[in-house]
Amino acid sequence: KRLILIGPPGSGKGTQSPVIKDEYCLCHLATGDMLRAAVAAKTPLGIKAKEAMDKGELVSDDLVVGIIDEALKKPSCQKGFILDGFPRTVVQAQKLDEMLEKRGVKVDKVLNFAIDDAILEERITGRWIHPASGRTYHTKYSPPKVFGIDDVTGEPLIQHKDDTAAVLKSRLEAFHKQTEPVIDYYAKKSIVANLHAEKPPKEVTGEVQKVLS
Ligand code: ADP
Ligand code: ADP
Ligand code: ADP
Repeated sequence: KRLILIGPPGSGKGTQSPVIKDEYCLCHLATGDMLRAAVAAKTPLGIKAKEAMDKGELVSDDLVVGIIDEALKKPSCQKGFILDGFPRTVVQAQKLDEMLEKRGVKVDKVLNFAIDDAILEERITGRWIHPASGRTYHTKYSPPKVFGIDDVTGEPLIQHKDDTAAVLKSRLEAFHKQTEPVIDYYAKKSIVANLHAEKPPKEVTGEVQKVLS
C-alpha cells in the first residue's frame, strides 16, 4: 500500500507508524526524522533546514521534495510506503503526484489524524523517543519501565529540541495554514480517511486497521 499520514505535531503519526509498517511491510519515510538526522550530521541540507526547524516553521518545499524523491528510489520502498509528515504543503502534494506519475503509481489512502489543538501541548511536552526504532513514549500516557530508557533495547530515550510549548505554537500555525489545505487536496480525490486521533493508541490502531483492511 502507498499511504500518507497527515496530522498536527503530537497527533500520533509516529506512534501508529510501526504498527502499520509491521503489518503491511512498507518502508516508513518520516521527513522530520530525516531532517533531524541531516541537522545532526551537519550536511549542507541540514545546515539549510536547521533555522526553520528551530523556529517551528516549515523547511522549503525544494529541500523536502528532494529528500523524498531520493528516498522513494530505495528497493524497500518499491512495494509500498508510509509517508509520515510529508506532504505538508499543497506544492509538496503536487510534486509528489508528479513523482508517482513518473513511476506509474498512486497514493492509496491518506490517514487524517484529526484532533483538537488543546490536547497537543501535553502530548508534545511529554514525548520521549527511541530514535533507532522510532518507538514513542509519554511521561504520562505510556511511560517506559525505567525513566529515560527504551523498554526493548535498554538504550537511552531522547526528547526533540523543538518539543516545547513555545515552538509548538508556531508548528500548529504552520499546520493550520499550510498543511490543512493538503487534506482538502486529497479529499477532492476521495482518498481521505478521518481518524479519531484523540482516542487511546489501541483504539486509533483499530481504526487504522479497519481503514486499511
Ligand atoms: P511532528 O512529528 O511532531 O509532526 P516532524 O518531526 O514531522 O514533527 O517535523 C519536525 C520539523 O521538521 C517541522 O517542524 C518542520 O520544520 C520540518 N519538516 C518535517 N517535514 C516537513 C515537510 N514535509 N515540509 C517542511 N518541513 C518539514
Ligand atoms: P506525531 O508523530 O504525530 O508528532 P507521536 O506519535 O510522536 O506524534 O505522539 C506524540 C506523543 O503522544 C508521544 O509521546 C506519544 O507517546 C503520545 N501519544 C501518541 N498517541 C497517543 C494517544 N492515542 N493517546 C495518548 N498519547 C498518545
Ligand atoms: P527498511 O525496512 O528498508 O529498513 P526503514 O523504515 O527502516 O526501512 O527505513 C527506510 C528509510 O526511511 C531509511 O533508510 C531512512 O532513510 C528513512 N527513515 C526511517 N526512519 C528514520 C529515522 N528515524 N531517521 C532517519 N531516517 C529514517
